[in-house]
Amino acid sequence: MNYVMGYRCTLCGKEYEANLMDYTCPACGPKGILDVVYDYSQMKKQITREYFRDNKNFSMWRYGPMTTVVQNSLLERTLRVGWTPVYLANQLGQKLNLKELYIKDDGINPTSSLKDRASVVAVVKAIENKFDTICCSSTGNAASSLAGNAARMGLKAVIFVPDRAPAGKLTQLLIYGAKVISVAGSYQQTFELSAEAISRWGWYNRNAGINAHLVEGKKTVSLEFIEQLNWEVPDWVAVSVGDGCTIGGVYKGFYDLLMLGLIDRMPKILGVQAEGCCPFVTAHRENKPLVPTEENTLADSIAVGVPRNPVKALEAVKNTQGEWITVSDDKILETMKLLGTTEGIFGEPAGVAGLAGVVEAINKGLIKAHERVGVIITGNGLKDINNGLKAVGEPLRVEPEISQLEQILTN
Ligand SMILES: *Cc1c(COP(=O)(O)O)cnc(C)c1O
Ligand SMILES: [Zn+2]
Repeated sequence: MNYVMGYRCTLCGKEYEANLMDYTCPACGPKGILDVVYDYSQMKKQITREYFRDNKNFSMWRYGPMTTVVQNSLLERTLRVGWTPVYLANQLGQKLNLKELYIKDDGINPTSSLKDRASVVAVVKAIENKFDTICCSSTGNAASSLAGNAARMGLKAVIFVPDRAPAGKLTQLLIYGAKVISVAGSYQQTFELSAEAISRWGWYNRNAGINAHLVEGKKTVSLEFIEQLNWEVPDWVAVSVGDGCTIGGVYKGFYDLLMLGLIDRMPKILGVQAEGCCPFVTAHRENKPLVPTEENTLADSIAVGVPRNPVKALEAVKNTQGEWITVSDDKILETMKLLGTTEGIFGEPAGVAGLAGVVEAINKGLIKAHERVGVIITGNGLKDINNGLKAVGEPLRVEPEISQLEQILTN
């Protein structure tokens, strides 16, 4: 059972029935990314605060009726995605001079990134629609999470990765038994090859942007965040941005809650990009359409020169009176260490970029000391230890002798 009424094209605004089989708007083609439209007046009858108070399902499927999945029996068999912890910062808030800083650690998901929220929905939709193979192209996390979630559900996965993908993520793919095609080219070229292969061999398409169901999975991060904050909306929520699907999902979650009357205002969304690859920030600053940019950052998960979900991402910030901001690679590395040392959370570079954006926004006076701030850590640092090592120094080295140890410790 779900409450899907149909789809609306983010480009031309045309509406379609719920039984539409195309991934994107038939009138606009592949760029006509669809947004799922729900019947909130019906959904309201089931989805109330009481419904959640009595709900014992501690995974993202507690919000299953708010997504597009229909076969409930499948949901019991998936990996356990979601219901990741929200921490009130113990030390970091003080350090940043923020009274309330909430950190949602989505690196705790089964394949260690927020992408699991989208992948598990994609896998369920593929099985609902009787596909036996699912495919995506990705800079890493979408791929590794698809491979893991597909393996669990007995679905074959074909994955296209650009050859810069970090070893941790590549290893995950191979461990989960996906067919991995490493393409000697940019993410853009990798994406195009996968699109061609998908239409040639008729696989289910889990590509970012193209598949509207993915954002409906990703939005559960916001649904959880707000429920875990006891329905008290923060002033800001920060998230890192590559293709724009995650921030689009973050927005959609808040939007659903607003439509259902479960919250009475939206948080401002802070979209954070790496300085070396920031097409959204540039487009926003110059008030112009997005232009393809270089992919020059060590935060591989947000190194996207040609974002696939521009409309949803731009609207997320615009409709919440939020802001766009960039962070340098040095600041990202600093933030990795800062988060690790103050809160015991290890994020990958793109995983902590949202937090680095919060630091930057505080320095710029955009975020004020009295404001309540939420930040989403989108991926775990163990996926990319080479960059982790860049963020920290060397260990203390000693001979196995107490006198040497004493010398080092008193220095
Ligand atoms: C994919 C990803 C993002 C950004 O999501 P987009 O939908 O590409 O904007 C951020 N952080 C991590 C760790 C990711 O894997
Ligand atoms: Zn259209």
